[in-house]
Amino acid sequence: MIKTIKGREFEVFIPEQKIIERVKELGLKITTDFNGSELVMIGILNGAFIFASDLCRQIDLPLSLSFVKIASYDGMNSTESVKKLIGLSEDLSGKHVILVEDIVDSGLSMNFLLDHFSSLNPASISIATLLFKPEAFRFNYPLHYVGFEIPNKFVLGYGLDYDGIGRNLSDIYQLV
Ligand code: 5GP
Ligand code: MG
Ligand code: MG
Repeated sequence: MIKTIKGREFEVFIPEQKIIERVKELGLKITTDFNGSELVMIGILNGAFIFASDLCRQIDLPLSLSFVKIASYDGMNSTESVKKLIGLSEDLSGKHVILVEDIVDSGLSMNFLLDHFSSLNPASISIATLLFKPEAFRFNYPLHYVGFEIPNKFVLGYGLDYDGIGRNLSDIYQLV
């Protein structure tokens, strides 16, 4: 089914049922890997809000869930964009942390998050991302839990937006 959003045409790429099944598998794998340990899940807003809420319900471990947002703003006297994290309040030292993202594309955002969270002395940091674009990835840190590897094409739905629209779609769509 084709959907037109802000004048662009999108078609279903990963249907809801496939996403649900894959999220279940990831939850089971995380449950097994952490073997009864307590987990701190950190969802990255806005895009990961649906994936994080679905994934956390497939994990059978004592778990806390928080969300953070990366704020980017342009420095006054340079073209470099500066990044800052909003929303983190708890002490993560000695905790097993899982960062939950909607998509890892170039990997720049996740690299910033890894730098930041490593400095808080957690016992471990793992990454769970629903989508991964290997052709666009410019780093070599490991992605522990990947839902789907996808081609380097723009997608939306299931939390991901196109210019603010489409986060509420149950399927994942890609540009026609
Ligand atoms: P990265 O820093 O890995 O290049 O990009 C990560 C962020 O860019 C993602 O968290 C997401 O917000 C956005 N992004 C990258 N690719 C896509 C895409 O295909 N669709 C949408 N909606 N957002 C994307
Ligand atoms: Mg994101
Ligand atoms: Mg976006």
